[in-house]
Amino acid sequence: MLKCEVCGKQADKHHIVYRSQGGVDFPLNFKYLCSEHHRGKNGPHKSRKLDVEFKIELQKKLNDLLCKDYYTIDELVCLIEINKGMLRRLLKDYKIYKEGYKKTDIIYRLMGKKIYTEDMLEEYYDFIANF
Ligand SMILES: [Zn+2]
Ligand SMILES: [Zn+2]
Repeated sequence: MLKCEVCGKQADKHHIVYRSQGGVDFPLNFKYLCSEHHRGKNGPHKSRKLDVEFKIELQKKLNDLLCKDYYTIDELVCLIEINKGMLRRLLKDYKIYKEGYKKTDIIYRLMGKKIYTEDMLEEYYDFIANF
């Protein structure tokens, strides 16, 4: 049984970058959350703040994990445990240099073609204050 990372109850698999946002299957993109911590009011599908926090956390993990500037498909498959065919499809629109794909392109694509910044959390607070 998968356990919720917050409370330990039976959990579902949550995609930090949703599939609808271009997110794909690789272990770092998963969080295991029970129905309340997943779909409830304090879960990422209802709380925009938590959603963005999870995404910033994932983006940081990817940045730390990919410590070189370029990576080949095989290196990435090994490092982030992603399906090779899927990764090829994801990166087909990006330039391949002689050393491989650029780290920044890889992270950008894995994050669903977005760059998340801490400002996004502040924007959220402003939004709430005005609401
Ligand atoms: Zn829970
Ligand atoms: Zn989810």
